[in-house]
Amino acid sequence: MTNIILLGPPGAGKGTQAQRLVDEQNMVQLSTGDMLRAAKTSGTDMGKKVAAIMDAGELVTDEIVIGLIEEKLDGEVAGGFIFDGFPRTLPQADALSALLKKKGMSLDAVIELQVNDGELVMRIVNRAKEAAAEGKPVRADDNEDSLKVRLMEYYKKTSPLIGYYYAKGHLASINGLASMDEVGASIKGILDRT
Ligand code: AMP
Repeated sequence: MTNIILLGPPGAGKGTQAQRLVDEQNMVQLSTGDMLRAAKTSGTDMGKKVAAIMDAGELVTDEIVIGLIEEKLDGEVAGGFIFDGFPRTLPQADALSALLKKKGMSLDAVIELQVNDGELVMRIVNRAKEAAAEGKPVRADDNEDSLKVRLMEYYKKTSPLIGYYYAKGHLASINGLASMDEVGASIKGILDRT
């Protein structure tokens, strides 16, 4: 069982790479973004509470996302867990470490997908255009205003995790701008070494 975190700004390709790992490595993706969107769609109390915050591109409270992760961490899974979009703050990182310890699990790697901001904006705008062209729903936060907030939240609150995990000896940084297959191969290489 290999447990990893995919770290990187919005649009870096975390979701895409997580999906590959689910398909190819028998891993389980834990995306707090997906869980929150599901809560929003089904209209639970929590979903209603977070809807406006998410649409604006801000982070929801640590308490909510830590609770969501805790619920899903029960039981070991064959290939291990991929944390996608979690943790996003230092308190979330500390909480994850405590949760894993409590469950007797370890964190094996933190994989940072490095990309530049111009490319990110293009990717997200294209993602919205493609979804619209295919008649699929467009994420409410895939617009330029929310994107700016999402990037700012990333730099202010999430990017300190890069140093945090470097200091813990967990960090592996890769070029997220390479092709999807190349990024996938780099991730596989890291997994093989854990
Ligand atoms: P994502 O799908 O990972 O881009 O997440 C979409 C939105 O969900 C974010 O912009 C936040 O509003 C919220 N969100 C997802 N994960 C977290 C997290 N770990 N901490 C706080 N907010 C989160």
